[in-house]
Amino acid sequence: MKDHYDIAVVHGDGIGPEVCGATVEVLRAALGPSSPLVFSEHPAGADLFVATGESFPETTFAACRAADAILHGAAGIPGIVHPDGTEAGLDFTLRLRFELDLFANIRPIRLFDGVRSPLAAVKAGDIDYIILRENSEGLYAARGAGAQLRGEVAVDTLVQTRRGVERIVRKAFELARAGKGAPADGVKRVTCCDKANVLRSYAFFRSVFDEVARDYPDIEAEHALVDAMAMHLVLKPGHFNIIVTENMFGDILSDLAAATIGGMGLAPSAEVGLSQGLFQAAHGSAPDIAGKGVANPYGTVLSAASMLEWLGGRHDDARLTEAAKRIRQAVGTAMQEGMLSRDLGGVNSTVEITRALCARLAA
Ligand code: ATP
Ligand code: MG
Repeated sequence: MKDHYDIAVVHGDGIGPEVCGATVEVLRAALGPSSPLVFSEHPAGADLFVATGESFPETTFAACRAADAILHGAAGIPGIVHPDGTEAGLDFTLRLRFELDLFANIRPIRLFDGVRSPLAAVKAGDIDYIILRENSEGLYAARGAGAQLRGEVAVDTLVQTRRGVERIVRKAFELARAGKGAPADGVKRVTCCDKANVLRSYAFFRSVFDEVARDYPDIEAEHALVDAMAMHLVLKPGHFNIIVTENMFGDILSDLAAATIGGMGLAPSAEVGLSQGLFQAAHGSAPDIAGKGVANPYGTVLSAASMLEWLGGRHDDARLTEAAKRIRQAVGTAMQEGMLSRDLGGVNSTVEITRALCARLAA
C-alpha cells in the first residue's frame, strides 16, 4: 500500500475531455476527501498536433511512464495526420503500448440491467465475458513496417513469438482462475480464438495455447476459429468466459462484442503490462458528438474502476479495490434506474450521468 498514487490524466481529443473529466469527478467522489489519488493532466492528441506540430510530447510520455497509472480519454481525429500519413494521436496509444510493453488488453463485455441489447433473446446477466486481446504482437506490431511495391503490391507481416503468446495465454487462464467473467453455465473456461486452419502464425498461437492449458487442468480450454467466433458472439454470447486472441482479431471482435451490450460508449478497456497500465474506454474520440455534452461516460468510468482494481491488487490496497466495486455498483444502479445517454436510447447528458454517479458514491 502506498500513501498516494500518481495518476497521469491525458484527456486527448473529441469527447476525450468530456468523458475523462467526468471520470475524474467520479473517482474523487468514490474515494472521498482522503483520496490517495493525485491527478496531473498532460496534453496529447490531434488538437495539440494542429496547435504545436507535436501530438505526443516527450514530457507527456515521461509523465505517463513515471505515473502509477494512466487514465486516458481518446486521441486522434480522422483526417489529421502526421507527414508520414499516420493519424496524429494514434502514436499516443501505440508508443505507450509498445515502449511500456502493455501486452494485455483486457476488454470486459457485460450486459447491464436497464440497457437494451440489439440481440433479441438476451437479458442482463446473459452476457458477461472478457476479450483478452494480445496487444504487443500480431499484425499490428509492424507499425507501418510493411511494404508497398510500386503501387501494385502491399505486404504486412504477422509475427507471433513464443514469449508473447505464452504470457497472454497465461494471463487468460489466470483471469479465469480468479473468477473474472460469468458464463451462463458457471464453467470457468478459456477460448482460444484463431485461424489455425489457414495461417501458420495462428496454428502456432494455438499450439502454445494448448501447451499452457496443460498447466491449468481446473479450467476448461477450447478453440474457436475467428469466423465462427463472430457468429457465436451473436448467437451464444452466454457461453463465453475468457476469450484470448491475437491483436487484430481482438480489435475487431471487441467492437462487435461492444455492440451486443449497448454500444461503444459502454465498453471499458485496460491495457496492462508488468509495471504500467493504461485505462481508457474502447471507443475513439467520436468527433461527431464532441462538445455537445451528450457523450456516454460509462465506458471511461468503468475503465477507471478497472484501474483501481489493478492498482489495488498490485499494491495490496483495499481502499482502491473497494472503491472499484462501489463504482461498478453505482454504474449498474444508475443504468437500472434509467440514467442513460442518447447512444443507449436515453435522454441524459454527460453531466447528468456524472452527477448521478457522484451523488450515489458520496452517499
Ligand atoms: P477509433 O478509430 O479511435 O477506434 P472509431 O472511428 O472506431 O474510432 P469511435 O470514436 O469509437 O469511432 O466511435 C464511433 C461512433 O460511435 C462515434 O462517432 C459516436 O457516434 C459513437 N460513440 C463512440 N463513443 C461514444 C460515447 N462515449 N458516447 C456516445 N457515442 C459514442
Ligand atoms: Mg474503432
